[in-house]
Amino acid sequence: MTAEFEKQFGKTPQFWSRAPGRVDLMGSHTDYNMGFVMTMTIDRDTWIAARPRPDKKVRIRSLNIAGESQFSLDNIKHDQRAPWSNYVRGMAVVMQQAGYALTGFDGLIHSTVPFGSGLSSSAAIEMATAVTYQQLGGFALDPVEMATLGQQAENEFVGVSTGILDQYSSALGQAGSAIQLDCRHLTHEIAPIADGLQVVICDTRAERNLIGSEYDDRRAQCEAGARFLQRHYPEVEALRDATLAQFAVHEAEMPAVVAKRCRFIIEENQRVLDLAAALTQGNAETLRQLFADSYIGARDLFEIGAPAMAAMMQAMQSAPGVVAARQAGAGFGGCMVALVQDDCVAEFSEHVQQTYTSDTGIEPRIFVVSAAAGAGALEE
Ligand code: ADP
Ligand code: MG
Repeated sequence: MTAEFEKQFGKTPQFWSRAPGRVDLMGSHTDYNMGFVMTMTIDRDTWIAARPRPDKKVRIRSLNIAGESQFSLDNIKHDQRAPWSNYVRGMAVVMQQAGYALTGFDGLIHSTVPFGSGLSSSAAIEMATAVTYQQLGGFALDPVEMATLGQQAENEFVGVSTGILDQYSSALGQAGSAIQLDCRHLTHEIAPIADGLQVVICDTRAERNLIGSEYDDRRAQCEAGARFLQRHYPEVEALRDATLAQFAVHEAEMPAVVAKRCRFIIEENQRVLDLAAALTQGNAETLRQLFADSYIGARDLFEIGAPAMAAMMQAMQSAPGVVAARQAGAGFGGCMVALVQDDCVAEFSEHVQQTYTSDTGIEPRIFVVSAAAGAGALEE
């Protein structure tokens, strides 16, 4: 990246930052219901090399996307021609609003996180950008604040509604472990993964066209469910607060679709809590059951499945060495995730590759991943 920076900008970069992508091991759509998610950073990340400028301008390029985008920190607008730069612009907007003094820079971005697959290349670019602005400005954000600013940039400037999961994972994820994130309190507990288990991500590479509107529908349905339950149980501010027993009493009175969404979230939230011990102990039967229940609930109750996901689930579940398999990210295609016996990873991957390709005609991508450190600066 240094060589490429020198070639493109004719100068040497002075700061390097990186932030990882992430995968969820449990907790689909629980984040905006203020619940729990078992999430893990991956060893695929986004890098930024930067050199300060004296003139409050930002000039940014990416090795992943052609073209350059330039803006002044004093007057930040959207760039319709280079929409990818809106993540860099949006971080500047929210950080300046929060009172931080930012320095202009020339920057080069590069990422090994696939785009739009649910591994959160967007949070990775946001968190790497936030680290860059901190290095240039000589100040340090609390990582939780960095995550919430990233969420704000994505929600308000980029215009994509997301929960806190992606940014929190990228900012606060831990090398070597999953973390159990509490999305209401913005805290987490370390959840070590038992020896002998390898996390393998299987990307369906199916088109995810409906994702924006379907996501907004699911959020609205979950909020409607929480409001309904709150009439009976005032302490229920979000679905995270409702127990399955409370819900079951009123399930039949709710609109059928809302009831299905609520049941999934309340059960999924409990599965995150149940996963922690099983993950650490490597309890194969419990892991298999929790993952399978999550997939079935996502498909039948939350209805975020897709034919490609069914084909991938079948390929993963029939593969040698598979311990557990489920969806990842928001659904409607995208990536899925399996826990695999670490001595069978090659056979597992080959089986998934062949089975999925012959069923769907689509070549999947398979990523064998380990938990990497959260976002931070890099020394030369
Ligand atoms: P996901 O977060 O699941 O990967 P998103 O649609 O939320 O998918 O974010 C992907 C978008 O983020 C890309 O289309 C691009 O605009 C931007 N992006 C992410 N990483 C980079 C990068 N290295 N260079 C340029 N743009 C990037
Ligand atoms: Mg994203």
